[in-house]
Amino acid sequence: MKAKKLAPPQKLTPAKRKLAIEGVPAARAKKIAASEPIAPKIKRGKTAKPLAPARIAAILDALGKTYPNVVCALTHRNAFELTIATALSAQTTDVTVNKVTPELFRLFPTPKKLAAAPLGAIEEIIHPTGFYRAKAKNIKGAAQVLVDKFHSEVPQTIEELIQLPGVARKTANVVLGSWFGIASGVVVDTHVQRISRRLELTRNEEPVKIEQDLMKVIPRDRWIQYSHEVIHHGRQVCIARKPRCADCSLEHECNSADKTWSSH
Ligand code: SF4
Repeated sequence: MKAKKLAPPQKLTPAKRKLAIEGVPAARAKKIAASEPIAPKIKRGKTAKPLAPARIAAILDALGKTYPNVVCALTHRNAFELTIATALSAQTTDVTVNKVTPELFRLFPTPKKLAAAPLGAIEEIIHPTGFYRAKAKNIKGAAQVLVDKFHSEVPQTIEELIQLPGVARKTANVVLGSWFGIASGVVVDTHVQRISRRLELTRNEEPVKIEQDLMKVIPRDRWIQYSHEVIHHGRQVCIARKPRCADCSLEHECNSADKTWSSH
């Protein structure tokens, strides 16, 4: 059930804050807050030890319980399809990609067929995903490299995968993690970037540096699932503009300055 929005908790004394959280109606909590303002005690965005192992474990535990068995949202039947679908997902949604890939893979189901496809035909199919000219060129080129260098098989190392046009670390990590089950790194998309920063697991802004930070604090056996879970969390709860903090299973661990509601 969605919690009612309360007055900013930092305006409540600890005892009254506890009451408010435990069931005082929102209107009364608001009155209390208005009548007894106290100086804010919590500095948002400044958790004392944001990388403490116990805190990391609590975050991973909450994510795992909230999003059990979550998987990649891109529709695919094999590593080739996942590679192409992930390359198409830049600057668009998985839903849009899932609308165009059935036709793309119906007509061009193998690297050999996609490499030989007319550029115009690819462009027409993938048009809704945006940047369709560059993407068409990249996926046709990627298919050609698969044929020429990798016997039409998707390779299983980052170093080889990033040789494909349009494939950078993010796409390579998605393919290795989601299809091959190889934890080569942490997928850092816009959701992982935003939420990892809100949770103070990193202070960096560049995806490559964020990935390095996350690889240091998250146990390797959680790298793949962490990304899947956080991407879902970012779509459903910790949305960019107005995070739904009252519905968030990580709320106890979060001191982000972006919070819209807080219990502590
Ligand atoms: S409490 Fe709010 S800002 Fe923090 S992770 Fe949850 S939804 Fe995001």
